[in-house]
Amino acid sequence: MPSARSRALIAAKADFQHALHRWYRASARPLPWREHPSAYKTVVSEFMLQQTQVKTVLPYFARWLAELPDFAALAAAPEARVLKLWEGLGYYSRARNLHRLAQAVVALPALPRTPAEWLELPGVGPYTAAAITSIAFGQPAACVDGNVVRILARLTADPTPFRDSASAAKAFTELATELLLPSAPGNHNQAMMELGATVCLRQSPLCLTCPVRTFCAAARAGEPEAYPRLAARQIEQRAVARVWCRQGDSLLLHRTPAGARRLADLHELPLASHIGFDPAASSAAPLARKRRAITRFQITETIHAAPAPRKLPSAELVWVPLARLDAITLSGPHRRWVAELLQ
Ligand code: SF4
Repeated sequence: MPSARSRALIAAKADFQHALHRWYRASARPLPWREHPSAYKTVVSEFMLQQTQVKTVLPYFARWLAELPDFAALAAAPEARVLKLWEGLGYYSRARNLHRLAQAVVALPALPRTPAEWLELPGVGPYTAAAITSIAFGQPAACVDGNVVRILARLTADPTPFRDSASAAKAFTELATELLLPSAPGNHNQAMMELGATVCLRQSPLCLTCPVRTFCAAARAGEPEAYPRLAARQIEQRAVARVWCRQGDSLLLHRTPAGARRLADLHELPLASHIGFDPAASSAAPLARKRRAITRFQITETIHAAPAPRKLPSAELVWVPLARLDAITLSGPHRRWVAELLQ
């Protein structure tokens, strides 16, 4: 049952759409996937933009399109090359799914056009299916991601406490669909995403210059940052010990097996446990201490100098000549750490 504020917004939707679209036409950033848009560019950009900011994606998108300009080229590319082009973007399952998606698409008689058909393809969830089909095929499917949830929760000052962003997205899908401009659903979705990315920011939203301010209950109440009401994420601390092991001009790395669920075929600095090294038994300070966040985990990784093992205890450990480091695929943080430690 929509709230009174949702109903009021729906009643004013023609004015809301007009204000949003006029602003988008004047203010949209000139992004490469928006120039001469195609289904392929939309798919690649949507996969790259999951969990990743636009400015990070831009150089990757340019390199990708130059080498793999369409579904057929991507489908025919070796997986190692696909992963190399993705190196540094993280969440590598996206690259593998995109590769499999291209192989599935080229085997079809025609490009799928509806969200239901795209949902059958690897790596495509409701948000991505709505983005691809609305932008590339004009389907009336509303995109609801964190940006859109934030805007709608603020427009309606929705006090519902949501368990997580997925349940919030589900709750706002009906309102997002009601507000969608049927004659231009792709532009409408992009306008909402653009508003969330550039104006209705998570912290310090730019309400004074917001094109839909007159429709916004949270801005009227002077407390936009109070919405959406999401339960605080439980953060878990994790400690990981890794080793820096040199033998002449080679570096010891761990290569995750091809069939692994995460990081398959990627190289990383080995865990201390991979070579039976006990950092607690060493009096030397770690060479480096790195902190990073992955989903709900706050991970502290220490990198310790360790002697080269006489015999490699597993086939997943490999000596890689330093001269070959650029040719292999290292996960993003490990590429940076190796470069730093080699200096
Ligand atoms: Fe977001 Fe402020 Fe615009 Fe409301 S007025 S939608 S809070 S930027």
